[in-house]
Amino acid sequence: MNAPLPPGALNAPASAHLASPGLLEAPRAQRQADVVQALRAVLPAHALLWQQEDVVPYECDGLTAYRTTPLCVVLPETEEQVAAVLRACHRLEVPVVARGAGTGLSGGAMPHERGVTLSLAKFNKILQVDPVSRTATVQCGVRNLAISEAAAPYGLYYAPDPSSQIACTIGGNVAENSGGVHCLKYGLTVHNVLQVRGYTIEGEAVTFGSRALDAAGLDLLSVIVGSEGMLAVTTEVVVKLVPKPQLARCIMASFDDVTRAG
Ligand SMILES: Cc1cc2nc3c(=O)[nH]c(=O)nc-3n(C[C@H](O)[C@H](O)[C@H](O)COP(=O)(O)OP(=O)(O)OC[C@H]3O[C@@H](n4cnc5c(N)ncnc54)[C@H](O)[C@@H]3O)c2cc1C
Repeated sequence: MNAPLPPGALNAPASAHLASPGLLEAPRAQRQADVVQALRAVLPAHALLWQQEDVVPYECDGLTAYRTTPLCVVLPETEEQVAAVLRACHRLEVPVVARGAGTGLSGGAMPHERGVTLSLAKFNKILQVDPVSRTATVQCGVRNLAISEAAAPYGLYYAPDPSSQIACTIGGNVAENSGGVHCLKYGLTVHNVLQVRGYTIEGEAVTFGSRALDAAGLDLLSVIVGSEGMLAVTTEVVVKLVPKPQLARCIMASFDDVTRAG
């Protein structure tokens, strides 16, 4: 539960602080109050966490050696809220760190101590599985394995399989261009995604790729995939599905000399 803001924090509009010189150097508590106040205007109360005990669970990702707490954590439930959060943070010059499941091992979802952590955990719906076009349309917070589970009744699955697939999200997979053992045959995330929709840091809606096998113009899909969330916040992804093999066998071979393994 969030307690009321610090005394005096609500007296002046955020824009008043913006107008002052040295905004970025403002004391952290004042900065936090400004940001929380701005985000309260665009989010329901339960979607905004800023008390220390509420934000501590977000202090690191899988790279647990590094930890810090953000000014606040937002958990939007609609794309309009994502866009509004980004617009407000952009106006206040607040860094935003997107977060999926927080399983990343490179510290990508580690908070910025003077920034906002944008959790996409509520974007967890599988919107469509189309066995004819062999595609699935999913929100960014859907777990990797959940896609294959939803496609299983059609004899299909989503090939990229990071070992964290039980927990990691497709939005995180897109940001990290994640792969797993199936990638030796089917390629990485970038080879298995048709379309990515999301929002720029200014809150502008963007679409990369298309539902077709190719999209006109520059191939920006392969720019967004692997961009570590730096170019846009992904909200929805169209992925390719592949047929389950009729038979799968594990084999192990050993070679005395690595050159003979080729
Ligand atoms: C046990 C274990 C095994 C793993 N095995 C593998 C493996 O086999 N292969 C592999 O590639 N990785 C592996 N990983 C790393 C990790 O699981 C992947 O990188 C995964 O894609 C991260 O997904 P996430 O949802 O947890 O993202 P997070 O950790 O939350 O975020 C990762 C990055 O993506 C960004 N991001 C997240 N969601 C969005 C979004 N919606 N829009 C924009 N940016 C976003 C974040 O800002 C951050 O930069 C493993 C991790 C663990 C803990």
